[in-house]
Amino acid sequence: MQVTRRQFFRICAAGVGGSSVAMLGFSPTAALAEVRAFKLARTTETRNTCPYCSVGCGILIYSLGDKSKNAFGEVMHIEGDPDHPVNRGTLCPKGAGLLDFVHSPNRLKYPEYRAPGAKEWKRISWDEAFTRIAKLMKDDRDKNFIARNDKGETVNRWVSTGMLAASASSNETGYLTQKIARSLGMLAFDNQARV
Ligand code: SF4
Repeated sequence: MQVTRRQFFRICAAGVGGSSVAMLGFSPTAALAEVRAFKLARTTETRNTCPYCSVGCGILIYSLGDKSKNAFGEVMHIEGDPDHPVNRGTLCPKGAGLLDFVHSPNRLKYPEYRAPGAKEWKRISWDEAFTRIAKLMKDDRDKNFIARNDKGETVNRWVSTGMLAASASSNETGYLTQKIARSLGMLAFDNQARV
């Protein structure tokens, strides 16, 4: 039988653990299997995509709470999705540390705005943020849109604003993002994977 280095360590660990508890009269098989089941027994499983890089690994997020109205869901475990075609259950060290990222006190969860000259960032609503972005985009496009070049040829360019899109998007999201940026005439369009 061929075993990988990782499998070899697992077998050794299971053997040591099993022989110790067997000496005490317990069956190691049931006891070893029970540990994993207990940890995730009363959790809600949510599928998602690792936000870090363009590989876009699938993840399973486990949170406590049964989604009832007064229950607060707390993320308590994240692991690779074994059914995901990209990573098949594996995660690199960054993805494996996602739980710390979720609970980091420095994580930005809401849109914030710092007015010109102000020192403080002020929390604003998503509605306010989207309205402000849309207004600034429209003002800039109205002012700088180039419909024709010097030769009178139609070019429909908007070169004074650019878009930086997320890398861990599905094909469908990527397609829609591209369509929106290009339909506005935007030429400066890049992807987070290159950052
Ligand atoms: S787990 Fe690692 S390789 Fe996969 S998307 Fe996240 S950062 Fe990229």
